[in-house]
Amino acid sequence: MASMIAARVHEYGAPMRLDHIDIPEPRPTDVLVEVKACGIVPNLQRVITNFFATKSPEPRPTLPLPAIFGLDPAGVIAKTGEQVRDLRAGERVYVNPVRGCGACRMCRSGQILDCPKFTLQGYFGRSLDIMRDYPYGGLCQFITAPASAIVRLPDDLSFEAAARFGYLGTAYSALKKLDAGPGRSVLINGISGMLGLNAALIARAMGATTILGTGRNRALLERVKAIAPNRIDVFSMSDEAPKDPTADPLLGWARKATGGEGLDTVLDCLPPGAPGEAMMQAMRTLRRGGQAVNVGAVMDVLPLNAFWLMTNRLGLAGSVWFTTQEGEEMAAMAKAGTLDLSVLEHQVSPLSKVNEAIAGMHTRNGGFSNFVVDPSRV
Ligand SMILES: [Zn+2]
Repeated sequence: MASMIAARVHEYGAPMRLDHIDIPEPRPTDVLVEVKACGIVPNLQRVITNFFATKSPEPRPTLPLPAIFGLDPAGVIAKTGEQVRDLRAGERVYVNPVRGCGACRMCRSGQILDCPKFTLQGYFGRSLDIMRDYPYGGLCQFITAPASAIVRLPDDLSFEAAARFGYLGTAYSALKKLDAGPGRSVLINGISGMLGLNAALIARAMGATTILGTGRNRALLERVKAIAPNRIDVFSMSDEAPKDPTADPLLGWARKATGGEGLDTVLDCLPPGAPGEAMMQAMRTLRRGGQAVNVGAVMDVLPLNAFWLMTNRLGLAGSVWFTTQEGEEMAAMAKAGTLDLSVLEHQVSPLSKVNEAIAGMHTRNGGFSNFVVDPSRV
């Protein structure tokens, strides 16, 4: 049997090691994909040190060791299972890492994101069985995945850019829930970070006409605004405190930017460690009847007044990841040119530098940096 190289975690918190292991055979309804790029995210560092499993309010299984991580793989189909009739070897694809049980009421209704066993291949999840069935994350040379998880990529979308689909799709799915589009306004809380910048790119592709964003680094915020100056405006939360301590400068700015109304929608993209109050500040910019969706990782208990929520007819929902259909929609937008990913700066590392790449994701370029590992280079 042919072998491949995989970066594996043998102990949570310890560096990955490069191991030679067998290339897996795809089962009848699976495909085998040769990975050409795997996106890495700052959260990966937290996942491989077991941060979320210990912080999560509910007990969660972790990937059995030795584990192959890697959430956002793109590559070329090398082989298809005998019951896969439409996909072919040689096709350029992104692998959506979402796995469900396939048999529960939600999975059978096509709502895999609501499966109680929801698991992200190569990352974390709720089912140890699914982790064992699909043990190959993108930080190895070949992975198996169900045919239903495959997103076809247009020829002119690079593997490196496709390795950003995790962030883009997370924002896209949430912005669809918020009905983002022409004539609608959205405030992206944390717009210059990895998730927030991708949210701005996809909101622009969806035709959202008023895209407001908060952040801290003023130079980065200006770069975000420059992507579409007629549609994007930005507010720095590190501006000087107002003389009147009861004033809310963000609220004043947001109202002014929306003709006095307030925002139709808020997409919260704040990173882990951000305080709950920072999320509330964004929510207070909503107009009456406005809707917020959280895709960020604020872990605080929110100081949220239920009476305020009711009397103002406000909504707050959570959203995680995206479906294969939504992945296909993003690929179609990239093909049509409405989704423009040219601002991303790809920083590609070979597989042998995976530990350095994960440790070196702190950047002054915020969400503009796209960190990718190419397992075909060792
Ligand atoms: Zn299910």
